[in-house]
Amino acid sequence: MEFNDTYRHKGLRKRLLEDLREMGIQDQRVLEAMYNVPRHYFLSSAFLEFAYDNKAFQIGAGQTISQPYTVARQTELLCLEKGDKVLEIGTGSGYQTAVLCEMGAKVWSIERQKELYDKTCPLIKALGYRPQLYYGDGYKGKPAFAPYDKMIVTCGAPQIPEALLQQLAVGGRLIIPVGEGRTQRMIELRKNGPTDFSRKEHGDFAFVPMLSDRAR
Ligand code: SAH
Repeated sequence: MEFNDTYRHKGLRKRLLEDLREMGIQDQRVLEAMYNVPRHYFLSSAFLEFAYDNKAFQIGAGQTISQPYTVARQTELLCLEKGDKVLEIGTGSGYQTAVLCEMGAKVWSIERQKELYDKTCPLIKALGYRPQLYYGDGYKGKPAFAPYDKMIVTCGAPQIPEALLQQLAVGGRLIIPVGEGRTQRMIELRKNGPTDFSRKEHGDFAFVPMLSDRAR
């Protein structure tokens, strides 16, 4: 794999990050991490010219890489601390995964499309990141490594999966878009005790749906 991050890419990235700041992203660490991860590595070369537009793009298997604003907002809502154990549902292109790694999180990420899992594993490794990637169904979480300090779901869930609530650490936080329509509400859940959760909403976003079971 060949990676080429030119001055032009860096310039476009800077401009995108200024736009995100104007749209309300305040966490400087998130913006820095997004500066350090060249988004154009995660898109097919057909979209190279548009990699730093604030838009979602097709990544294969009918899926999309999230819009940069969405990545920034979800990451900001996680309130990451260095060394946090993070479970991500919906690896997709691996872009969000790379941003989490860049912020010093230990990442476990699950993808249900084999085609994307097979494509993203070598890319993320070649870029030097070391998350644990799995092909599987995110509805089940990854109990073997629970509890997780933070969880991020990057597909629209019809409801909050019970397994994720169980695998979240007390004091932990889950950021998940919930809803079955064209848009979902961004929900922040905090786990105050084994069965005690508090909930906040953070506006409407549009995601591809979270589907159950593995794709064949
Ligand atoms: N974070 C990704 C977003 C990809 S879109 C990125 O930045 O590129 C959401 C992804 O969630 C898709 O790849 C889709 O295949 C995956 N997905 C949908 N349902 C899932 C499930 N039940 N378990 C794991 N992944 C799922």
